[in-house]
Amino acid sequence: STPLLRAIDLCKEYRLPRGQTLRALDNVSLEVMPGEVLGLVGESGCGKSTLGRCLLRLTDLSSGAIIFDGQEISSLGERAMRPLRRQIQMVFQDSYASLNPRRRIGDLIAEPLRVHPDENGQKRSRAAIDARLAELMELVSLPASALARYPHEFSGGQRQRINIARALALSPQLVVADEPVSALDVSVQAQIVNLFTDLRERLGLTYVFIAHDLAVVRQISTRVAVMYLGAIVELGETDAVLHKPAHPYTAALIAAVPEPVIRHGTSLTLLRGDIPSPISPPSGCRFHTRCPKAEARCSAEAPELRPLQNDHAAACHFPLMDSL
Ligand code: SF4
Ligand code: MG
Repeated sequence: STPLLRAIDLCKEYRLPRGQTLRALDNVSLEVMPGEVLGLVGESGCGKSTLGRCLLRLTDLSSGAIIFDGQEISSLGERAMRPLRRQIQMVFQDSYASLNPRRRIGDLIAEPLRVHPDENGQKRSRAAIDARLAELMELVSLPASALARYPHEFSGGQRQRINIARALALSPQLVVADEPVSALDVSVQAQIVNLFTDLRERLGLTYVFIAHDLAVVRQISTRVAVMYLGAIVELGETDAVLHKPAHPYTAALIAAVPEPVIRHGTSLTLLRGDIPSPISPPSGCRFHTRCPKAEARCSAEAPELRPLQNDHAAACHFPLMDSL
């Protein structure tokens, strides 16, 4: 089958005062197949949120192309983009910030239904909107009575259910979720992750799921992309990446997770040092300043993301072959 979403050589640069440039995305390419969950992981500041926003065209690219459902969307103007907006929706980390506190839940969820016409290009009737609101409440397991209440009357987990209902209002194909459970208590996190999984099965959704918590990513993702300083350093099926990491950075991220959340092999490599500034990233492999495996070649030559085995790829001159 063909990918639902293709990102090709995405670059995003920010010009800073004093002539400096921050390269937030550095030649990122990936594909998302229909029905899969691509987990995007990495430390904060690695570019995963920027990538999510660029995929939705909420942030403009500096270069590169995005193809959604066979259509090049990266060069579309806002007007041409509008009918596609219903197909791609985003759920954010902060469940409260994305809900206007002065408006009732029913109004907030109905907003996209009022703005966008229905499948036949018609404005939706009041009755059609009410029927859809009832369906959406059922989908996210909230009582219909919630529609008449205000955001502050709900817990963080309930507010995230409300945000999910709103994201699903127009029956999108793709949902980009940016750390949607990071602000929630651990017990509530599991419920929301389960809800995402249920909804994917029921509605045939496709997700790009951004998270820094590897346990969450392991639970929900079918494939994982690991990012470091704006680039993808490892990409593959979730089991392969999290249990047999090939990139030393991935191995270090996993080693930093307290057991028994994720268990893997024997070599324990902990991350040393801070993430370098993306304004003046290290030469060659950007991870060489922190990598326990670094050799002379690593600071001289940037490794390409290349396939190692099956669909497992890593950007490293000396991948952890014992893992493969
Ligand atoms: Fe480490 Fe070198 Fe691989 Fe970079 S290329 S991750 S520095 S071994
Ligand atoms: Mg972020």
